[in-house]
Amino acid sequence: MLGDNDFIPISKINDFLFCPYSLYLHMVYEGYDATTYQSEVQVAGKLAHKSIDNKVYSSAKRYLQSLSVIGLRLGISGKIDILDQYTMTLIERKNRVSQLYDGQVYQVYAQYYCLLEMGYNVRSLIIHSLQDNKNYRLSLPGKVEAKKLENTLKMMRNFQPQSFITGTNMAKCRHCIYYPLCV
Ligand code: SF4
Repeated sequence: MLGDNDFIPISKINDFLFCPYSLYLHMVYEGYDATTYQSEVQVAGKLAHKSIDNKVYSSAKRYLQSLSVIGLRLGISGKIDILDQYTMTLIERKNRVSQLYDGQVYQVYAQYYCLLEMGYNVRSLIIHSLQDNKNYRLSLPGKVEAKKLENTLKMMRNFQPQSFITGTNMAKCRHCIYYPLCV
């Protein structure tokens, strides 16, 4: 699905770990009007990010906002939400986090590795839940986490949507925005 030389969008790692087929559908529908397939939850999440994308979080030079990042070694690219340059904390804001999923964590790790490669000495990582104003602090990734991220990216490159059987995990499917289109 992705060529060896394609850069993987960091924002798609979470989709892929939720369900590889959802990433494929995401790419298929990307060119369409988002209201035709996005759930309310996803729209709320997008609005939460709007203040970052419009760079209105703070005018202080302390915060780098919506910075484009690239990781040549891993072949990934995307944007970070916020880098607090005083504390060198990378902050990823989500609309509401009730529990942390691997996809959310690996998304932040991917941003972290891009920033390191770009010369930013990031020292801490936070996922911030906007609705309840909670911070989830992540440890910096070690060798095991780095390997898991690399393996995930490899699986994303090698994924073949035509061999995927949909609907095998109805617990996930029922909460998936693509359920009406897929199962
Ligand atoms: S409906 Fe199920 S199989 Fe289809 S993309 Fe969603 S989680 Fe995957």
